[in-house]
Amino acid sequence: MNSAIASAKPATINLLDFDRKGLQAFFVGLGEKPFRATQLLKWIYQEGVVDFDDMTNLSKSLRGYLKENCCIRTPEIVAEQLASDGTCKWAMQTHCGNKVETVYIPEERRATLCISSQVGCALACSFCSTAQQGFNRNLSTAEVIGQLYLAQQRLGPEHRITNVVMMGMGEPLLNFDNVVAAMNLMMDDFAFGLSKRRVTISTSGVVPAMHRLADVCDVSMAVSLHAPIDALRDELVPINQKYPLAQLMDACRAYAKAGPRKHITFEYVMLDGINDSAEHAKALVKLLSHVPSKVNLIPFNPFPQSQYRCSEMAAILKFRDILHNAGIVTTIRKTRGEDIDAACGQLVGQVQDKSRRHLKLQTARTAPHAM
Ligand code: SAH
Repeated sequence: MNSAIASAKPATINLLDFDRKGLQAFFVGLGEKPFRATQLLKWIYQEGVVDFDDMTNLSKSLRGYLKENCCIRTPEIVAEQLASDGTCKWAMQTHCGNKVETVYIPEERRATLCISSQVGCALACSFCSTAQQGFNRNLSTAEVIGQLYLAQQRLGPEHRITNVVMMGMGEPLLNFDNVVAAMNLMMDDFAFGLSKRRVTISTSGVVPAMHRLADVCDVSMAVSLHAPIDALRDELVPINQKYPLAQLMDACRAYAKAGPRKHITFEYVMLDGINDSAEHAKALVKLLSHVPSKVNLIPFNPFPQSQYRCSEMAAILKFRDILHNAGIVTTIRKTRGEDIDAACGQLVGQVQDKSRRHLKLQTARTAPHAM
């Protein structure tokens, strides 16, 4: 298995924690010219060189300083599972012993990497298995970009990752600065050089952060909607209690306008008998009428002890047709990597839960109903 690139003293500065601007500030702070940043980015991300001695266009004294004080450290791949459809899932261990999961999804004309942003998740969406794990901490920029770095290295140049979705474990907008810096590196021509259309952030609807994002970073946006009315969304995606649909839709409109973007993608998990009726579809059409939208219907992926069932395919198709007929482009997400629990909402990693949510859930499940 691949190991951390360079071992390092814990107090050293991990250069993967900086995007280009951060690196420029770092080098200027050392009395160096800002262009050292692009030189370093090229070495790390394009040449795959991580030994400072080999970075021959840096002065000897700068190399000496970097060797003494800095490191280039990613998480470590500790497990790899390959699904029958070619999807690959890696468990990546962070230096503190937690594990997060990263999923590679090859398709005919593109290859997508699904990246985690947090160890566990602090939100409690009732249909998501990551939520059951509780929460430990935000991933650092190095740990977010390190997932892409390691995956690409493991896959080799003949399997280029063409798209990234921040749809792994965690709520990316609750780890704002680190995720933005990592996405900057994904799009930086001196690092991964992906176009902004090929980097997608997915959010459960952290409204203030959506507004902030529009000011600092230009990526595609997916919103985990899952219900067209507040009462139901309050239950499925509890952050809705804080930022209800009217506020969420305003933020979506503002984000689309700031781009300007062709659309916002709305993810909608299909839960049998919960959110999948014709009435729900019609309410969704109404809700989205003032936002440039694309809808992605996600068949629910079950996990141990999940309380929901996936909608019947007939219900999913009917739901799609109602949206289609109202002029909304609607796709049904093909479930990938099911046999290795790599599908949406099935990522669990290994989380040392600080929120104690898993204990609360266990108690709730085993406790007799009070009468
Ligand atoms: N927290 C962010 C990033 C996670 S993205 C967000 O909520 O957008 C993962 C996507 O898979 C989200 O749309 C999520 O709602 C969806 N999902 C979660 N659990 C699922 C499940 N069991 N089946 C299908 N989709 C699920």
